[in-house]
Amino acid sequence: MNAPKEYPLFDTFARIDLRFEYGSGAWLTTKEGERYLDFTSGIAVNTLGHAHPYLIKALQKQASKIWHISNLFENPLQTKLAERLCAASFADKVFFTNSGAEAMECAIKTARRYHHVNGNPKRFRIITFEGAFHGRTLATLAASSQEKYLEGFGPKVQGFDQVPFGNNETLLEAITEETAAILIEPIQGEGGLRLVPAKTLQFLRRTCDEKALLLIFDEVQCGIGRTGRFFACEWANTTPDIVGIAKGIGGGFPLGACLATAEAAKGMALGTHGSTFGGNPLAMTIGNAVLDIVLEAGFLDHVSIMGNVLKQGLSIIIDHYPDIVSSIEGSGLLTGLKCVIPNTNVIAALQNEKLLTVSAGGNVVRILPPLNIKQKEIQDGLSRIEKAFERISRQNARNSIIK
Ligand SMILES: *Cc1c(COP(=O)(O)O)cnc(C)c1O
Repeated sequence: MNAPKEYPLFDTFARIDLRFEYGSGAWLTTKEGERYLDFTSGIAVNTLGHAHPYLIKALQKQASKIWHISNLFENPLQTKLAERLCAASFADKVFFTNSGAEAMECAIKTARRYHHVNGNPKRFRIITFEGAFHGRTLATLAASSQEKYLEGFGPKVQGFDQVPFGNNETLLEAITEETAAILIEPIQGEGGLRLVPAKTLQFLRRTCDEKALLLIFDEVQCGIGRTGRFFACEWANTTPDIVGIAKGIGGGFPLGACLATAEAAKGMALGTHGSTFGGNPLAMTIGNAVLDIVLEAGFLDHVSIMGNVLKQGLSIIIDHYPDIVSSIEGSGLLTGLKCVIPNTNVIAALQNEKLLTVSAGGNVVRILPPLNIKQKEIQDGLSRIEKAFERISRQNARNSIIK
């Protein structure tokens, strides 16, 4: 007998044993022809679902022209996307990356350089929050400060001070002469869809202004329309000095960006940062195509309406199953169910009903449909959730009789 073949990939992911062949809108189909309703959207990435004809056409057209030129040359697709992102936000300047971690890495570097060129090189520390997730590079891991992700990777990158979530007093105490910035996700994604109250975001803005700190938002997960506004921070009428985006802007193509005001970006002079692939023509084409649709009149309203339909449906369901779910978290189509039983059991039961969802911290199940989801698909998802919950409670009832 042959020795079993070594699994050729790093063992870093516990992958679900499903192999999808193709996708269409909110649906994924396996080789065997089984159809799943995809409420993961590749973890808030597939803004317009799978195989959107407009994105396919844009990509195919660009693919026959130029794939890659590096940042040696002017790239009109980059300037166009940057201009549009700035026009849709507080920002004046953009740096393109290939991922969320790189976008946040750039945000951190931008904040440190700002104080450096202002003659305050000692100001390099950044305040972050418990439950945060900013990526898997060494610096963004240090910013996230989650022990389980840091263990065994050598000394933690210096300069990050983590404070509890939602405690303004402790936050103020943590600010020192070395503090450069405050970094926060307006809605914690991996942390369990915890919403930062509008008042808190406004308090952070005031604090940064008073103490000459930069405010950095991580909108890698909550940005690009997920909550029904282009940026989640718009709900709080608050703007940062720097924001990182990724996930949704590429609609499935690897793309991220760091956006900043001209003032905040002033330290990022010639040669201070770079990326070989960042802003690649294929990525820029898709980013522009995603914006064509997301910025269309009525699109973000559709997200809000679908978010409300989802939330209302969920609250009716969870009223009947308080022993499965205790509350609904998040906003818009960045919605979560805080579970009473292990969230992994809930996700498995939903998968059994051919509905795909994602786990998050705090025992949450994330429900992340594509932003162009149809109302009848939301209803379909809700009835699958109801069926799964019925089955879970029947099983629980049986188990308690056996006991
Ligand atoms: C996913 C995520 C990141 C990291 O993005 P990658 O593309 O995986 O590097 C950073 N911040 C937030 C809030 C995220 O959700």
